[in-house]
Order: sequence, then C-alpha cells, then structure tokens
Amino acid sequence: MNKTYDVIVIGLGGMGSAAAYHLMKKGLRVLGIDRFQPPHQFGSSHGHTRIFREAYLEGASYVPLAQRAHALWRRLEEESGKDLLAEIGGVMIGPENCEIVQGTITSAKQYNLPYEMLSAKEMAKRFPAFYLAEDEVAVYEKTAGVLFPEACIEACLKIAISEGLEIKTDERVLKWGQEGGGITVYTEKGIYKAEKLVISAGAWNPDLFGFTIPLEVQRKVPTWFQAMNKPEIFNPDQFPIFCWHYTNDLNIYGMPGFHGEGTKVAFHQGGLIGTADGLDREVSSEEIAPIQRLVAERFPDLNINDVTIDTCFYTNTPDGHFVLGKHPNYDNVAIAGGFSGHGFKFCSVIGEILSDLVIKGKTNHDITLFDPVRFQKS
Ligand SMILES: Cc1cc2nc3c(=O)[nH]c(=O)nc-3n(C[C@H](O)[C@H](O)[C@H](O)COP(=O)(O)OP(=O)(O)OC[C@H]3O[C@@H](n4cnc5c(N)ncnc54)[C@H](O)[C@@H]3O)c2cc1C
Repeated sequence: MNKTYDVIVIGLGGMGSAAAYHLMKKGLRVLGIDRFQPPHQFGSSHGHTRIFREAYLEGASYVPLAQRAHALWRRLEEESGKDLLAEIGGVMIGPENCEIVQGTITSAKQYNLPYEMLSAKEMAKRFPAFYLAEDEVAVYEKTAGVLFPEACIEACLKIAISEGLEIKTDERVLKWGQEGGGITVYTEKGIYKAEKLVISAGAWNPDLFGFTIPLEVQRKVPTWFQAMNKPEIFNPDQFPIFCWHYTNDLNIYGMPGFHGEGTKVAFHQGGLIGTADGLDREVSSEEIAPIQRLVAERFPDLNINDVTIDTCFYTNTPDGHFVLGKHPNYDNVAIAGGFSGHGFKFCSVIGEILSDLVIKGKTNHDITLFDPVRFQKS
C-alpha cells in the first residue's frame, strides 16, 4: 500500500523549497516533487542573483512581509552556514515624481524605514558607474541587497532533507485530485497520497492550479555585461542594486556580479508570452539590441559586446500582485504563484505562510492583497 504523507509539495523552486523547509520544522511527513533537479535553470529561480529591498514601490503592504523575509533569510544563513543575502544597498532612480521614486518614499515613510535622497551629482560621486540625467534623483536604501537564489534553494532543501523531507526529482506531476478526503498526486512515475497539498510550480502553475486564473507566462532575457573601463566601479562595494525609471512603462533593474558573471542590467517589462514548455529559449541578437543601447547610454563603462544572456520566466498577474492562499475549491490545498517578477525576496516568508495555511488553515501574515479569487470578483 502507498505511504500517506501529511503534505505533498509540488515544485521545489524558490517557494516550494522554502515551504518544505518550514513544514519540516513542524515535524511533518512531507514529500516534495519536482520535474527537474532543483536548483535548476529551467524555471524562475536561477541566474546568480535576485534583488532584495524593503522599501517597496509596488505597495507599502509588502513591507512587513519583506521585513519578516529578511529575518528568515538571516536565520537560514545561520543554520546553513552559507552566505545568502549581501546587504550592499540599493538605489531607486528616476525623475523625482516617477512611480519608482515616489512609491519607494511612500512605503519607507509609512513604515519608518531609513532612506537617503541623492541628486544626480551626488550619485556620480558616490556610485560613479551610473550616468543619471540632470533631473533624475535616487532614493538610497542601505539595507537593500542581493540574494543568491540557487544557494537559498539548496540551503532550504539540504536542511529539510536532513530533517526527513523525502524528495522525488526528475519526476513530473501530471495531475492531482481530491480522493477519499485526502489528496492523490499522479506523476509520470507513481501515485502519492497526502492529507494536504502545496502547489508551487512557478511558470507551470497554470497547468496545475485546477481553476481558471489569468496567469501570463513571459520569457525574460536577463543580460550580464563585463566592464570595459574602471572595473572597480562595478564591484559590490561601489555598485548597489538598482531599479531605474526609463520611460513611463519601461523600467530597468540590475546588480553587480559577485562571481565574475558581470553586471546585470535588464528590462523589467517586455518579453515573449506563451507557456513554460512552449516558449523558445533561443535568443536572437536583435532581441538584446535595445538593452545594449540603453547600457551604452546609462553605464558607458560597460562593454555592450561582452554580454552573457540567459532566459527565465516571469508569471504575471493582471495587477502585478501575487497569488497566495487556500485553493478556492479545496480547503486542504494551498497555492503560490503569479509572482510577476518580484517574488524571490519573499520566498522565505512565503514558505512560512504556505506552511501556516496547510497546517493551521490560516496565517497571521496579511495576505489579503494576494487573494487567489480576486480576478473572478472583478
Ligand atoms: C529574470 C528574472 C529576474 C528576477 N529578479 C527578481 C529580483 O531581483 N527580485 C525578486 O524578488 N524576484 C525576482 N524575480 C522573480 C522571482 O525569481 C520569482 O518570483 C521566483 O523565483 C518564483 O519562484 P517559484 O518557486 O514560484 O518558481 P520556480 O523557482 O520556477 O519553481 C517552480 C518549480 O516547480 C517545478 N515544477 C513545475 N511543474 C512541475 C510539475 N508538473 N511537476 C513537478 N514539478 C514541477 C519546476 O521544476 C520548478 O522547480 C525574477 C525572475 C526572473 C525570471
């Protein structure tokens, strides 16, 4: 007879590995299943680095979650003995009245987060790699920084496995269902049973959530550039993470390299839309020409021809906010998705929330913004 688990977690990327970690801390019998071998480069959680910031231009209600995430990342660092979060500071750049600048200031003020305003001249002095227009300003947040996503996933899984997590990798979940009061998960290789289920399958969530929700999978093409001049100005001690208003509907973001990969500069918006299995991972030189032009303008000491390219998926919601909560049709299923290109920094706290939802049926964190059925209401 098949063994029955307390919880099955489908997808062990950023969110699922953190959920598995928190569930193991509660002493449950947990099975994690992934179609690849996490951490891997086929989903949304690869590519060396992710921005961490607490002053949150996307909405002040993210701030308490970012603060809790920060504490949990530090706890994971201590427990794993690995460097996971480098606090190198961050700058949110643009004309004074743009959303990036104003949204950051609003959330910082609301939660009393320290920040500094820098003029274009002050930026040039302090962070000489950045070429701001005269009318642009920057909001500097000292505690912003960089997470190392592969190391974060590895740390969660290693600790969870040492505490009894069972995992099945290179095993794709085909479907799941509610049977006899519990959950049955069908994979390419077997059938597994549990009382509860967490679905955190990233860009593949549309295949697995089992209810209609407007998730859009977008192929992103992050780019890393090597320095042409003055390589020291791109080192983490002189080059903070940044988000930069470029036009009203186009922002760029980036961070320094930590392991020789180069300085990351990428567009937040734009990219091919499709399905995770259907999107082409080949990138043409025409596709990267716009970011090369922009880098030449804003970071002239980078070599636009010495570039490394990757592909990665955003899973976008219509309002840019996450999908996180109990499944609308099943009380014993929790779902996490639609992270719209800004979810990684929250993985540690989302893992905690997912474990709360399946164990207690509720969480003390405020997740009303992420209600999975909000799109059905409107
Ligand atoms: C280029 C890029 C830059 C980003 N930058 C930032 C940033 O700076 N800061 C930030 O906070 N966020 C950032 N994000 C967003 C962040 O990385 C994502 O929100 C986060 O990684 C999503 O994690 P996830 O667990 O939902 O997805 P994933 O990590 O992709 O995990 C999903 C897992 O599910 C597995 N899976 C899927 N289908 C099945 C199946 N049928 N059976 C079994 N397993 C399955 C997959 O193999 C995968 O391991 C960025 C994203 C991209 C693409």
